[in-house]
Parts: sequence; C-alpha cells; structure tokens
Amino acid sequence: MFLSRHAEAILKAIVRVAENNRSSKKTDLWPQIRPLLYRVERPSRYIDSEWGVAEAQDYRVGLCYPDTYEVGQANQALALLYQAANSLDGVSGERIFLPWIDLSDLMRKEDIELFTLESFMPVSRVDILGITIPYELSYTSILEVLSLAHIPFRAKYRDDSYPLVIGGGPCVFNPEPLADFFDAFLIGEGEEAWKEIISTDKTMRAQGKTKQEILEKLVGISGVYVPSFYDVSYREDGRISTITPTHGAPDRVYKRVVTDMETVAPIQCPIVPYVDVVHNRYTLEILRGCTRGCRFCQAGMTYRPVRERSADSIVKNAIDGLRDSGYDEISLTSLSSADHSQLEEVVRRLQKQFEGSGVSVSLPSLRVDAFSIDMAHLMAQGGRKTGLTFAPEAGSQRLRDVINKNVTEEQLLETVERAFKAGWRRIKLYFMIGLPTETDEDIAAIGELAGKVLRTAKKSVEPGQRGGITVGVSVSTLVPKSHTPFQWEPQATDEEIHRKQRVLRDFMPRKGVNLSWHDADISFLEGVIARGDRRLSPVLEAAWRNGARFDAWSEQFSLKRWLDAFEECAYNPAFTAHRARDYDEVFPWAHLSTGVSDAYLVAEAKKAREEVLTQDCSFDSCTGCGACQTLDVDIVLGGEKRQ
Ligand code: SF4
Repeated sequence: MFLSRHAEAILKAIVRVAENNRSSKKTDLWPQIRPLLYRVERPSRYIDSEWGVAEAQDYRVGLCYPDTYEVGQANQALALLYQAANSLDGVSGERIFLPWIDLSDLMRKEDIELFTLESFMPVSRVDILGITIPYELSYTSILEVLSLAHIPFRAKYRDDSYPLVIGGGPCVFNPEPLADFFDAFLIGEGEEAWKEIISTDKTMRAQGKTKQEILEKLVGISGVYVPSFYDVSYREDGRISTITPTHGAPDRVYKRVVTDMETVAPIQCPIVPYVDVVHNRYTLEILRGCTRGCRFCQAGMTYRPVRERSADSIVKNAIDGLRDSGYDEISLTSLSSADHSQLEEVVRRLQKQFEGSGVSVSLPSLRVDAFSIDMAHLMAQGGRKTGLTFAPEAGSQRLRDVINKNVTEEQLLETVERAFKAGWRRIKLYFMIGLPTETDEDIAAIGELAGKVLRTAKKSVEPGQRGGITVGVSVSTLVPKSHTPFQWEPQATDEEIHRKQRVLRDFMPRKGVNLSWHDADISFLEGVIARGDRRLSPVLEAAWRNGARFDAWSEQFSLKRWLDAFEECAYNPAFTAHRARDYDEVFPWAHLSTGVSDAYLVAEAKKAREEVLTQDCSFDSCTGCGACQTLDVDIVLGGEKRQ
C-alpha cells in the first residue's frame, strides 16, 4: 500500500510519540498486555498512540474514566482535563479506562497491573490520579479500577508512595459514599483548579513533602474537598448529627466555577480514536449552566449560572476543531444548547462555512418550541432528518407546574406539527414517573398526551406517509438528587413504580407508540447511592466483592449482589431511598455548596407543592438562588455579562 507523504509524516509522528512514551523511566507493561489482546473482544480498545496523544513528560497525571474506552474516550470533561494537564511544563496526561471483563479477568490471572494508555505504565505509578465520577452506577467500577491497579481502596491505608487519588465530575456534589476511597474531590468546574492541584502536588512532591502536608495545602484551593478532614457524627435514629471540619478545612466547600467561558480553551487537538466510540464527532461546549429551574434536575442547580461563549468564538473554535481532528460532524453541546442567545447566528454561519464540505452540525437537545424546529431544519439541510427528541417530563399541566417544566400541551403539539410538516417522521418523548404529588390521573395523562402527539403527527403529513410515523415514549423514574428542591422527597418504592408502569401501559395507545421504561431496580439503587452517606462505603465494597462492576451496563447489573451487600453490612437502603426528610435535616452533603442557597431550595420545594412556577433567570429577572452572589460570577450571554 502506498502512503501519501502527509500520511507517512503522521504515521512517523505517531510512532515517535509511542516510542518516546514507552522508553520512559517508568515500567512498560505492553509486553505483558500484548499477548492477552489475542484472547479478548475488541483489542483495539487497548491500543495506544492515537492521533493527538501527548508525549510523555516526567510528571505523569493519570486521568481515569471508570468505563470502557468507547464510553470514556468520548467524554468531553476528560478531554478538557487531559488538555489542561498537558498544558503545564514537564507534565503529561495518561488516560486510563476500565478494561472489559474478559481482559480484566486475564490480567488478574496473570497478575498484571492496570496500565495507562499513553505509556503502558502501571497506574499505581502515576504521580497523581484523577478519577471521573460520572454516575452512581460507576462506583463499583471505580473500586475495580483501584483493585486492578493494586491500589488499596481506603485512602487511610495508602502511604506516600501512592499517587493522590482525586475525584471529580457530576457525582461529587454528594461524594460521601466514596469519601473513604478518595484523598480529595474537586467540587465543580475543573479546568483551572485541576492545574492548581497538579502544580501544588508536583512542587511539594519534589520538596519531599508528605501526603498529609500536600492535602493540608490543597484545601486552600477553592473547590477542593478533603473528606478525611471532616468528622461526621450520627444520631441514634440514623440521621446525621454534625459534620465538623478539622485540619483547618473550611466549614463549607463551595464549588469551583469558571467565570468566563472565553478563558476555557475548547478541545484544541482532540485525540482521534482508532475505533468507534459512543460519539464519533467533534464536540464544542457552547454554554455552561441552565437556569430553566426544573426542580428534579441536579445539573440545573449545580452548574448555575449560565455562561455562554460568543458566536465569534464558537465559529472560530468549530473551524479549528474540525480541521485538527478531521471529523465531519460537530456537536454544539451544553445542558440546553437551544437556549444559546446567538444560536441562530451560530448555525447560519457554520452552515455557510461548511457548505458543500459534507460537515454536519448537531445539537444534543431541543426545546419544545418552533424556534428549535427551525434550527433543526436549518441544521438538517441537505441531510437526513433522523428522529427528534423532546422532554415534556410529565403528562399533565398540573404536574409540569409542580416540577417547573415550563412547557404547555399546545406548545408541544404545535412543535410536533411543525416538525412533521418539515419532514421528520420519528419523534421520541421523555417522561418521568414517581414525581411528588403524582396521581394515577397524571400517569394516564402521559398516555393521552402520547396519543395526541401521534394524531397531530399523522394529521401533519400526506395520507400516504402516515404509515411510517413512530412516536417513542421513554419513561424513567424520579431519583431525588442532592442539591435539588426534591432532595427532601421520598423516592417511590419498586412496588409503587411497577404499579404505575401498569397504569401507564393501560392508558398508552395500542398502536403507533413504542413504550419503554427504565428498570425500577436500577433507579432504586441509583437513589440509595445518590443520597447515601459515608456508611454506604462498606456496602460498595461488599457489592464489588460480590462481583458488581459495570453496573451501568444492564446485562452486567444484578440487584441480588447489592441486596446481599446491604444484608452483609446491615444497611437499610429504604432509610436512604424511601424516607421523607424534614427541612432541617443535616444532609450528608451539608458541608458542600453549589452556591444555590438552602433557603432557595426550600422555597422551591414549597412552590412545587403549591404548583407555582419560577421563571428562567437568564432571560427574566433574578429569582434569588444566590449562586451569582455567593460565587462572585455573572450570567454571560453571547460573551457579554448581563447587566
Ligand atoms: S443568582 Fe439570580 S441570576 Fe444568578 S443564577 Fe441565581 S437566580 Fe439566576
């Protein structure tokens, strides 16, 4: 085969990086791993030196995503933290993913430690180890990572020879079930704080400082939480009594926040995988935060306030990112991309820029309104109109007011009509059950609304096209999360959810609607972990010993392993999942703050019961959550601070 000179240069660069990384002073596990790859499914998961990897430096930062390569490599936060680490002098990132069960079993049998991808060095020998905590069902996979890496689970048993193990990501707003396993957590946005943590550790390690001394310094970095510096005491009835800081740690750790998105470099030279990952495209974060105020949504509370990149910056970064990566699709990501105040300008400029090049632009989520359909239509020009997804979340207007989902039935049906007239033929709707104040009438309303959507869709197209129309209805269970107005609510029991699912099936149209729902067992476990405290850590360990790992993969999930673990540890999961709390209860996360005040969450909880809406503060006036004042940050629209 002939290689062009350009391709040959790329290949040589890749080989050079691979050789430099391997010939480092650290142990190279590749000779031991290589023979095992003939015996596993998808060996390409474990091949290093993709385009865009960093050249190894003396100080190595392990960045772990506790799932397979395909899932972790697509994670935007991991890519940003990898880039942040590599931007520091003498520092390089080393990615770590959890090998699938076939390889991990072989590694155990052959006594081979978990390796990093860049250098194939043992994970236990990186200088610092950052682990993303993406969802509650990843907790046993995190233990599996530590086990395969031969790193003791509990932080107190790790001496100075081990890297500091730092957690970050969406679940750190209640990291307490993992508190014993981590040296520190980074609460909030990591781009700046991660560099400060690395620099502090690098300098102090070089000075011969101990782990304890380094941790005492790290608590001075805004957003860093060292769980061993807090003593937790419990009441006889099982509730928390007090959480007391020690070692000079602050009473409350406030989340770290980036005030200006223009200072956050987007992913500049992304790693281009050899294999298909879950999202095969260039992702560009166009805004951070969402202030729509859905009362069940943890991200909506924890990522406040809204900060947008400017249209100019988005367009420039999109062009650069696609050029450097070679991808032909770009996704403009955020919690609510259709809310970007300059979205239309951005999409029109990108369409013009990429006209005729085969590049497509997509948004991960759409609002229920005409504007979103116009944007989707603009983005789909010339391309296929695949399905659209919308999230009304509740079937009745009453319940949508309870959860503060500011969408009416008329808006939804108008949006559906516009979408089907514009050429779409598939639509998927997301709902939740188990919401506070929910009645069987509210559940029946989901079926009725799905029927109206189906009839509207059919009426909007020519009679000959009606046969191809499908409406998907996906129904999940509310898992009350920390830092939300629903954090005091009991989670519905499995029996109740199964009964509600039967009601739902009875009221769903028999034809034209594909109904699916989330496994109630999984939601139950997610609920226990989401609001659990430190007493849950032995349960996590027991579940892992019972074989739990990759719990987020439905074929790997086994409730029995967990029920056995609860029993072994004499832990009552119902106390955590199904109990209503008083407003003055001390939560496990009481010493961690998102900037949103407790008073605001209580007020929102009460407004939910009164079915009263709260407006979106990004476009209306401030509704007083306190995040801007507490964190000293402003709403930024189109790159400009809102006055
Ligand atoms: S402080 Fe006001 S403007 Fe800022 S996020 Fe909260 S409600 Fe919105």
